[in-house]
Amino acid sequence: MTRCPHWRRVPPGLADEARTRAASGCVDAAVQCQLTASHAGSEHYGFLDETDRCTALWLRWTGADQVALAVHTDCPDTGPLPHGDACCLFAGHPGRHTWESGPPAEPPAHR
Ligand SMILES: [Zn+2]
Ligand SMILES: [Zn+2]
Repeated sequence: MTRCPHWRRVPPGLADEARTRAASGCVDAAVQCQLTASHAGSEHYGFLDETDRCTALWLRWTGADQVALAVHTDCPDTGPLPHGDACCLFAGHPGRHTWESGPPAEPPAHR
């Protein structure tokens, strides 16, 4: 699975608000949608920062003018054992879990 290719610049007003809510106090100037490519629905979600242990701040947008901050609980689903990878998205997200795309940059298995 590949990542949705959509990027969104974080509007200055929302960036200021996000900084006051983000755990780290800083957010990126632009974010890429974290959902899988060709995800259901027209809303894109870019990750900004954690807000606390199990919630995170997201930038949600549907077009040039439709952009807002959204706080979501982390997706509780984990991948199959033995790895049990955590999903990097939020509960109820459209599309697949991030661990369904397979481990990133894992060397080829021994033959
Ligand atoms: Zn998207
Ligand atoms: Zn998930």
